[in-house]
Amino acid sequence: TPLIKLSDVWKTYQMGEIEFDALKNVDLDIYSGEFVVILGPSGSGKSTMMNLIGCLDVPSKGIIRLDDQDISKLKESDLAQIRGQSIGFIFQQFNLIPTLNSLENVILPLEFQEVDPDIAKKRGQELLEIVGLGDKLTNLPSQLSGGQRQRVAIARSLAIDPPIILADEPTGNLDSKTGTYILEFLNEMHQKEKKTIIIVTHDTEPVQYADKIVYIRDGQVEKIEYRNKMEN
Ligand code: ADP
Ligand code: ADP
Repeated sequence: TPLIKLSDVWKTYQMGEIEFDALKNVDLDIYSGEFVVILGPSGSGKSTMMNLIGCLDVPSKGIIRLDDQDISKLKESDLAQIRGQSIGFIFQQFNLIPTLNSLENVILPLEFQEVDPDIAKKRGQELLEIVGLGDKLTNLPSQLSGGQRQRVAIARSLAIDPPIILADEPTGNLDSKTGTYILEFLNEMHQKEKKTIIIVTHDTEPVQYADKIVYIRDGQVEKIEYRNKMEN
């Protein structure tokens, strides 16, 4: 069975009198260990899709299952618990806390999970070393380059060792060298640790790493393409 299953999912935004269907009749299966790229132009519904897959929001209509559990009608506190256990987020704007240094930012999700502080600190240091920032533990975000901030965000997304990593425009605000580094890194997580990687983007660069490419346009899945990668 799929790890994530969207069945006839709709998302309707209400603006006063006006209703707008940002997602219409979306069916999508994502299997454990897949590298999925959700590709579409600006305004096609990518962020809406990411919010639903990431348990940040619920659909207006339809069913979303995660690990066979129907999550479509859960309340925020239950969604938050699922996010905390299962999903590592990499946001376009990084969402680092400006007053916390790299290490503190990375271990924040572990503090929410009430992980022992010494263990959290050790894991945070390891993760920052993995992303090549072992010498920047005490730098604030303002004391890092854009690419370095993105790497802190990646380290943070891995803190809880989530089975799913969900990245919103991971190459968005970065120079192409840093963007490629990030994609290579996610690809390594996918291959070595069998993580499920989901990238939501308008950029075609991530497509080369994908097992599955989901094209969305005007809130609908236009087509799904499968790639036979030479792995496994
Ligand atoms: P993308 O991420 O592909 O740019 P979004 O999911 O952000 O697309 O938006 C899809 C459509 O839904 C857009 O037309 C956008 O204007 C509309 N939309 C997104 N969020 C809201 C909201 N909170 N209220 C009303 N309309 C929204
Ligand atoms: P955008 O797609 O507009 O550039 P982001 O990539 O920063 O925005 O965030 C994508 C979506 O995730 C937005 O709808 C935002 O509200 C939500 N979001 C961003 N950061 C967090 C967070 N730390 N916790 C919960 N939701 C978040």
